[in-house]
Amino acid sequence: MVRLVEPRHYATLEDYESTAHLNGTVSELRREAKTVLPSLQDRRVWMVSSTERGGGVAESLPPFLTLLRALGVQASWLVMETEDADFFRLTKRLHNLIHGEGDTTLGPAERELYDRVSHENAEAIQPYLSPGDVLIVHDPQPMGAGARLRTNMDIAAVWRCHIGLDQQTPETQAAWDFLDPYAAIYDHAVFTASEYIPSCLTGRAAIIHPAIDPLSHKNRELSVHKVVGILANGAWIRPPGEMLTPPFPETTKRLQRDGTWAPATEPEDIGLLYRPIITQVSRWDRLKGFLPLMQAFAILKQDFAHRIGLSERHRQTLQLVRLVLAGPDPKSVDDDPEGLEVLGELRAAYAAMDAPLQDDIAIISMPMSSRKYNALLINVLQRCSDIVAQNSLQEGFGLTVTEAMWKHAAIVASQATGIRQQIRTGLDGWLVANPEDPKDIAEALDALLGNPWKREAFGKSAQLRVHGTFLVFDEVRHWLALMAEVAKARWPLSP
Ligand code: UDP
Repeated sequence: MVRLVEPRHYATLEDYESTAHLNGTVSELRREAKTVLPSLQDRRVWMVSSTERGGGVAESLPPFLTLLRALGVQASWLVMETEDADFFRLTKRLHNLIHGEGDTTLGPAERELYDRVSHENAEAIQPYLSPGDVLIVHDPQPMGAGARLRTNMDIAAVWRCHIGLDQQTPETQAAWDFLDPYAAIYDHAVFTASEYIPSCLTGRAAIIHPAIDPLSHKNRELSVHKVVGILANGAWIRPPGEMLTPPFPETTKRLQRDGTWAPATEPEDIGLLYRPIITQVSRWDRLKGFLPLMQAFAILKQDFAHRIGLSERHRQTLQLVRLVLAGPDPKSVDDDPEGLEVLGELRAAYAAMDAPLQDDIAIISMPMSSRKYNALLINVLQRCSDIVAQNSLQEGFGLTVTEAMWKHAAIVASQATGIRQQIRTGLDGWLVANPEDPKDIAEALDALLGNPWKREAFGKSAQLRVHGTFLVFDEVRHWLALMAEVAKARWPLSP
């Protein structure tokens, strides 16, 4: 089934332009857009993705489409939702194989299934398209449908792959062998990092980094009143007095000593507004490295805080610092047994800790039913954090890192491929050598906690880097240039 989706986004080009620190970037984008627009004249650009909600792709498309339209590009969004559970399972397997995991046997039955559903979807998409249009197809699910349309119609097609592994394994090879016949048909492909480009697409793939929207609820600036209001309405803090706005319908919950979930203000205030805070926000996925991060924090508190020779300020910082580990409400991931298992491991490790250490670690369940409230709650948490950690064993890109860099947090992260695209270690943050070595992580946290100037310098550099490279304007600029190039190559006689 295919649906035309109207992107819902509240910020306009004028809103970005009237924000002082974005004005120059937006003017530059306008200028550049003028030079490439003639190649896209009379063409419609179609985004095709497999979901409208949830996940980075769905979140990034509305601001992206809004900007394209405001610049004069006719752009629309089609969502290809399949009800065929076998097809869904197959594309999930392909997704996991591209990440290097799973059963590599993909035979004629899988080919037949993928081709059949792709054929049905291509038929459903075809009536929307006109000759001369440009199709941008996201990830493996709609890839086959896009390839078929490119074969049958006078259109150009680009495949945008949001996933990848930085090494070739039998698993990744199996996925690319399966997808190669479709990939070969596309005019071009786009990846997040050069390490992810499979050999079948070498020479026909570009790198475009994902980006964040600086005016979204997750990233926009907030006044002190707003920060405190959101913290209180979302149960991050106890309301300091009578509040102007009511509590959010769903609020943050904190894991209690007895293993139950209660409002995050229980058993006592975490101290987001006044204590040194280390935070990691992620899905409950083993690859996000929550457990070694929590073990590192234990070393920091139990060993490092008591060593001799510390300055009084450093010792005080280590005594007061708290760790917040936040992830989606387990109710929202009950179709993800692995996520629940990872959360279970964290809960068990937490339960085995001494009471004072438990007081200093907040394992948080974030409400997920409202995207807006979830985003605001993450926004304020990142703004209240001195250090934002992203201890991922693997990371496609790591938007949580971009979001925190934008808020000039000092980052301690792993050297996973996606994170390496963003952080230059020693300049925009610190990348630990081994995210599975708690001592290594503890040392990095300790060095930064003891050095507020370094934190400040990392934060400033990080924000500048996001400003220059990872905002949605940069993404739009790269896409406009690529689409114009693809259109010129496909229709050399057009303007
Ligand atoms: N996120 C969220 N609520 C959560 C945990 C994560 O909204 O409880 C968001 C987070 O702010 C980020 C995205 O989910 O925008 C995760 O993207 P990232 O690229 O960091 O990792 P992925 O989950 O795609 O592996």
